[in-house]
Amino acid sequence: MKHPAVRPVDELLLQPAPRAGVLLPLPLSGAYDYKLPKGTNVLRGLLVTAPLGPREQLGVVWGDAEGTVGDNRLKEAVPLAGLPALPEKLCDFVDWVAQYTLSPPGMILGMALRSGRAFEPEVTRIAYARGAEIPQRMTPARQRVLDVAADGLARKVPDLAQESGASPAVVRGLIEAGALVATELPEFAHFDPPDPDFMTVTLNGKQQEAADVLRRDIAEARFAVSLLDGVTGSGKTEVYFEAVSEALRHSRQVLIMLPEIALTVQFLERFAQRFGCRPAEWHSDLSQKERTRTYRALMSGEARVVVGARSSLFLPFKELGLVIVDEEHEQTYKQEEGIIYHARDMAVVRARIEGCPVVLASATPSLESYVNATSGRYAHLRLSNRHGAAVMPQTKLINLREAKAEPGSWLSQPLREALAATLSSGEQAMLFLNRRGYAPLTLCQSCGHKMMCRDCSSWLVEHRYRKRLVCHQCGYETATPPKCPKCSAEASFVACGPGVERVAEEFAALFPQARLAIASSDTMHGPQETQAAIRAMAKRETDVLIGTQIVAKGHHFPQLTLVGVIDADLGGSDGDLRARERTFQLLHQVAGRAGRAEKPGLVLIQTRNPKDSVMLALASGDRDKFYEQERVFRERAHAPPFGRLAALILAGLDGTLVQETGRVLAKAAPPAKGVKVWGPTPAFYHLLRGQTRERLLVQAERNVDVQAYLRAWLASVKLSNKVRVAVDIDPVSFF
Ligand code: ADP
Ligand code: ZN
Repeated sequence: MKHPAVRPVDELLLQPAPRAGVLLPLPLSGAYDYKLPKGTNVLRGLLVTAPLGPREQLGVVWGDAEGTVGDNRLKEAVPLAGLPALPEKLCDFVDWVAQYTLSPPGMILGMALRSGRAFEPEVTRIAYARGAEIPQRMTPARQRVLDVAADGLARKVPDLAQESGASPAVVRGLIEAGALVATELPEFAHFDPPDPDFMTVTLNGKQQEAADVLRRDIAEARFAVSLLDGVTGSGKTEVYFEAVSEALRHSRQVLIMLPEIALTVQFLERFAQRFGCRPAEWHSDLSQKERTRTYRALMSGEARVVVGARSSLFLPFKELGLVIVDEEHEQTYKQEEGIIYHARDMAVVRARIEGCPVVLASATPSLESYVNATSGRYAHLRLSNRHGAAVMPQTKLINLREAKAEPGSWLSQPLREALAATLSSGEQAMLFLNRRGYAPLTLCQSCGHKMMCRDCSSWLVEHRYRKRLVCHQCGYETATPPKCPKCSAEASFVACGPGVERVAEEFAALFPQARLAIASSDTMHGPQETQAAIRAMAKRETDVLIGTQIVAKGHHFPQLTLVGVIDADLGGSDGDLRARERTFQLLHQVAGRAGRAEKPGLVLIQTRNPKDSVMLALASGDRDKFYEQERVFRERAHAPPFGRLAALILAGLDGTLVQETGRVLAKAAPPAKGVKVWGPTPAFYHLLRGQTRERLLVQAERNVDVQAYLRAWLASVKLSNKVRVAVDIDPVSFF
């Protein structure tokens, strides 16, 4: 890692111009040399504009210049007005992530510079508020303006005019008369400081113990990882709120990461109840202005707490003192497109670089975190019971081989009975199926033709309400055709298998009186509709919520006592090493929605494999037994965290070339101790958005430097630029 060359400012003009390596947020191999204006204090992180070809580009002073060319051949980069600089630790983090993910550092820098406007000086505007003078001449129009201004707020001239119905000339007359006085309005509203003691709760004994550990780490301001491992409803959030309070008391900033934007709304409200104001937020739904506001406020230290998605990891904290990764096992923390990285793992790295504690919270930790915690590498903070009167729900398996429903029906008799009982006692139920739309497959009855996406090797999913067939991989959609494109048979399509819409249809036929809502992470039912469905459920305006994994997460519905899992076997047979862990986590999470308040919950899981260890663990509630089995399985297979994995994903429009490139790469794999290379094999979606995809998998022992291996390998072959090679370190999905 390079260190900044700090030079005294009072240099003689005779001295040569200072030079520096400047990193640009572009896919270049590294920093480029520039000279800087004489007298510039060359500081790592300093923001500059640098000429690149015909353009001016925002860049960051990264370290010493590398080359030795003369001054006259170097272009000049100019620091931005006010000399804003990225925090040095953020620069270090960018370097680290680039190294780890084998990405061009400029691409990682790009993630840290998401708001270019943030470095421009703030544009304040002049506004006018009521002054002390009373105008000598009073007219009705003048009076109206003064009435508007009577509240003491500052307004711009056009706003005063508009609100009072007077002309701008009238307003200006009042300004001249001294009845309105100018003040400066800041461009951005300020962030309120959260109050650590706004509304505290009394923690129970176990919660207290966990909070004590976190408070100590924060007070000592040292890097430490804790796994906050507690059943749903045990008060993990309350515990880490205590840690947030402690960080605030020590004047440190806090980053709270959530796996999904859909969860933030509820969370922001809960935060406000606890701390007296909303935290800053950071995710893709923010407007450009909000982004700029938040970015600046974190850099200046004005914003103390930010709640965000993956990308919040790259924000310029002035004094970060605590990182929290809630639902740390969630797969959405893995970014699969562009720069492939795991935000949970990188959060640990950021905390290490910042020298601050990080808390990973989950009721069903990733096996990696579980192993780290049980082996003592992480502090293991366990909360085994729900807080207060709430008890864990009872879970029962329904063997679909025995309780067979009629064809085209997905609700077994026992589930129907339980639904009837719940509804008649005025409680709420939730049905879970991790499949969007009406049916996952549409088939021609006369020739067997399956409706596939044009551009992907995936089935088109029927969305019956909208009368469309949709590809869930690329978003391609088409109206359901009147006849089979293969054999031209008319009205020959049949829907195969259930999606949430189809389950809803069956439910509505059985319980026509019940109030029903669908929540699905879908382009058809957008985030607003999903939010509305979830709010209606919380307010008891809905009796039954039918949904995909979006309903599994985080929500607290006190009157929800029955959860039905329509098909627990879905996704259990991918053949990928995390499929079982994921099924367990998801179903456990869904089950955790039931009986969160006084009334006990019941969970019914429909499965064709009731003897499967995932199902047995869910039914018995013996979570750790399942984790121990998985640990043994992974250890035997030398799979993570007992071994390392990296994937190369090749993609291109020319299928033959992609396959050929895969073979060339495989042949070129350097032999190395403790390293095995598998493939190439077609990816699960071997066609995606028209691109053919092949995968190679590197399996290595834990002590192997996988990055070095990959670098050497990739440098040894010349590949066609028509094939894109993506490196996925620690892959979690194998699509
Ligand atoms: P988790 O994050 O583990 O799912 P939460 O922190 O959301 O659990 O707690 C579940 C519910 O119990 C919440 O409504 C929370 O306010 C309440 N709760 C948890 N601990 C306490 C406590 N010590 N005092 C009062 N209420 C608590
Ligand atoms: Zn597609």
